[in-house]
Amino acid sequence: MKKILICNRGEIAIRVAKAIRELGHIAVGFYTDSEPEASHLEYCHEWVHLKGSSNTETYLNIEQIVELIKLHKIDAVHPGYGFLSENTEFCKRLEELGTIFIGPHSDAIHKMGDKAVSKQMAKEAGVPVVPGSTGEIDSAEEAASIAKDIGYPVLLKAVAGGGGKGMRVVNDESELSKSFDAVRREALSSFGNPGVLVEKFIVNPHHIEVQIIADNNGNIFHCYERECSIQRRHQKIVEEAPSPFIGSDEELRLDVCNTAIKLAKAVNYNSAGTVEFIMGEDKSFYFLEMNTRIQVEHPITEEITGIDLLVNMIKSALGEPLDFSSQEEISIKGHAIECRVCAEDPITMLPAPGQVNGFEYTFPQGIRFDHCIYNGLEVKSDFDPMIGKLIGYGHNRNVVIRKLDNALDGLLIEGLKTNVPLHKVILKEENFKKGLYTTNYIGEVAPQEGVEATKDVESLYKKAIAIEMNALQEGRGK
Ligand code: ADP
Ligand code: ADP
Ligand code: MG
Repeated sequence: MKKILICNRGEIAIRVAKAIRELGHIAVGFYTDSEPEASHLEYCHEWVHLKGSSNTETYLNIEQIVELIKLHKIDAVHPGYGFLSENTEFCKRLEELGTIFIGPHSDAIHKMGDKAVSKQMAKEAGVPVVPGSTGEIDSAEEAASIAKDIGYPVLLKAVAGGGGKGMRVVNDESELSKSFDAVRREALSSFGNPGVLVEKFIVNPHHIEVQIIADNNGNIFHCYERECSIQRRHQKIVEEAPSPFIGSDEELRLDVCNTAIKLAKAVNYNSAGTVEFIMGEDKSFYFLEMNTRIQVEHPITEEITGIDLLVNMIKSALGEPLDFSSQEEISIKGHAIECRVCAEDPITMLPAPGQVNGFEYTFPQGIRFDHCIYNGLEVKSDFDPMIGKLIGYGHNRNVVIRKLDNALDGLLIEGLKTNVPLHKVILKEENFKKGLYTTNYIGEVAPQEGVEATKDVESLYKKAIAIEMNALQEGRGK
């Protein structure tokens, strides 16, 4: 039995705790001064006080966390996603302490954590990369000369970026110098590293990513792809597996998956991770980045493959064999879609913190809801606004859309704004229903413009129920 510390909060802390319990280990969770009753604590065997309120004082505070690891004799640490999950220094400190980091070795995090370095590595491994600079660029002039070669539009990207931040599309040379300075500034303030690269902006693309799972003995497997092209501000909001764009093109599917394995092998990958690609209209695809951690959208892969990624990630770190021993044992059955439930305005899609004062749900068969919501939950602006993930699984894509649509009707989160009304519009929208969408979907199809109408129907429905209740009470009174 190992004592495993979860260095995270929210829905992913609960997901990790469930996997730890399933394997019979001891789940240790943090509580902070600002979240003394975090919902993940209910799933943990032991609770540890992580002093402070802000993220820098708590979940990003390596010194305090290392002290607590020593004090509580922790055997292994799961970092979740975000926070310290891709922090080389943290991983190295644990390696020095002899505490197991449930993730890849620090060298893989280091190499894949920098978009310029990882691109170079991918190139050397024979993985296609987006045309552009091979490393960081030092000036707007350098960017301009590369842009002249590859052609506009181009994308300026922070090498240390993540979460869709630190990126800017440039349409012609006149915008270049202003955008270059802006991305550099944002990169320095958000990621503490001003490095920028320039690459071709692929038009009408698809975000296709491959799930990797590897053990500690050099065995690397893929669990097929996910399509995450429905995005706002370069951040995913709906993901599905398998990809409707790849569809029944099995040759392409295998090509993408084997390309991901090639890169994972090049860094001796030894955990769960994701290789992200951008795929053009002509199905040519290029490496974007590798996320060396468990990803938000991992559940859809778990649904279609039947593989528990968290459990296998933990087993891998503990040096145990995975639940399977050959690639042939991993296959796709059915379809899965995930809707990220965020505390945000469904029309502007901007964070809308607040307090939950009502929470109920009734779901059809085939629905999984990974969340951290409870009546009274306060969603603060310091954290990511994502509070849950509604995951539908079924025989085929149409079945899943129907189930999710029903599930969204059965999900009531009161007291704050959520993007549930936006998801309802997307699931009913013709292009989405046909599986015809690119990363331009939100910008071009603008489902958010359809949100008002849905809201009206809802308020009419609520009014009708109120009238009915009144009549009932009056009837009883008489
Ligand atoms: P995924 O690829 O798993 O969907 P996202 O890009 O949505 O990941 O990010 C998952 C979480 O990690 C979000 O909370 C996001 O804000 C955070 N995150 C991702 N990359 C970084 C980074 N480089 N720095 C800080 N936070 C990050
Ligand atoms: P992050 O670390 O923030 O996740 P990524 O490099 O993975 O950054 O890119 C996030 C999203 O930005 C992609 O899913 C895609 O929609 C868009 N994007 C990134 N690079 C390109 C590109 N070269 N051309 C077109 N879109 C891109
Ligand atoms: Mg990404």
